Amino acid sequence: MTTNLLDLDLEGMAAFCERLGEKRFRATQLFRWIHQRGASDFAQMSDLAKSLREKLAGCAHVAAPPILKEHVSHDGTIKWLFDVGGGNAIETVFIPEDDRGTLCISSQAGCAVGCRFCSTGHQGFSRNLTTGEIVAQLWWAEHQLRARLGTAERVISNVVMMGMGEPLQNYSALVPALRTMLDDHGYGLSRRRVTVSTSGVVPMMDRLGQDCPVALAVSLHAPNDALRDHLVPLNRKYPLQELLAACRRYLEHAPRDFITFEYCMLDGVNDRPEHARELIALVGPQAADGGVPCKFNLIPFNPFPASGLQRSPAAAVTAFARMLSDAGIVTTVRKTRGDDIDAACGQLAGDVQDRTRVHERMAKRRTITIKPAA
Ligand code: SAH
Ligand code: SF4
Repeated sequence: MTTNLLDLDLEGMAAFCERLGEKRFRATQLFRWIHQRGASDFAQMSDLAKSLREKLAGCAHVAAPPILKEHVSHDGTIKWLFDVGGGNAIETVFIPEDDRGTLCISSQAGCAVGCRFCSTGHQGFSRNLTTGEIVAQLWWAEHQLRARLGTAERVISNVVMMGMGEPLQNYSALVPALRTMLDDHGYGLSRRRVTVSTSGVVPMMDRLGQDCPVALAVSLHAPNDALRDHLVPLNRKYPLQELLAACRRYLEHAPRDFITFEYCMLDGVNDRPEHARELIALVGPQAADGGVPCKFNLIPFNPFPASGLQRSPAAAVTAFARMLSDAGIVTTVRKTRGDDIDAACGQLAGDVQDRTRVHERMAKRRTITIKPAA
């Protein structure tokens, strides 16, 4: 087995080159060929000595997992399904907007957190992705899009770790991948334009703040522990007060001066005025402990049958957003994109493998009563 160079950040590449008896600056050249130019064929790398190119051909390769499917939505959103082996597929979604191009990347095949409203959570956990599999999503999408658009300019300006999986439960693979995204010799993305989204793995939030501070989104979804325990089972391990304290600590290192709270709007479950009031008291600027400097991103729930949940009506979302903004919290409602191709949040790769035991487990959990909509 030869080394997939997508697994290496620049430091890793330098160590790799040293092992081959090459100077460190060769690593920079290689890194730039791969990430800035999208090259995978060493023969193409014309400023490397022929002897090095031959050496590399014998011990290394550059490859993304094979593509199983591509879907292009009428709104320009593109979804790719990558085959990561063993019957597992992961998804990557490109979302073009006027002023930016955002790539939504997966960190795991499946997810162990098991949130009730998430189809990845319903699938259960298969495995962590490698650094190379995380980086490959960006490498492949960026160079594929450049080729299609006939441009040498950067197409992807923002990366969000909001595909399948809990990135902070795959920490050791995540950090080198983030470093490659940020590296000036790699993708040169600004820390403010790379967002890690987490369901609240408190100790790893602290480590990320130390090791590689990027923008942070925290999936809140509930204003109290009873409801959050139910929707995001990880809350039983890291309850709200601990999570909010970790958010405040993160802000000391973060490239932005706020945390984005994601809040999936579930009809009759977490979308009532009393929930908004409770949230305001918990994190708003008038909260007893000063709250958390934050913005809210309200996500209309993307329903799937096994969840037994429904999307909040638009009027409930608007009223909820209004209450938060009136309390001084900047609030946006996420547009659903790529609905026609199941590229919306939490719908990713759900149809690839049916892990029946998990479905049974989730079905049992659903019997805990949550007040239905009136
Ligand atoms: N595991 C991380 C990142 C991946 S999920 C996390 O939970 O933050 C990315 C976002 O999509 C999260 O905010 C998640 O709550 C949201 N999401 C999951 N399923 C969804 C669904 N069915 N509808 C809308 N948003 C969903
Ligand atoms: Fe995992 Fe995030 Fe889905 Fe929860 S919402 S199950 S943490 S991917």
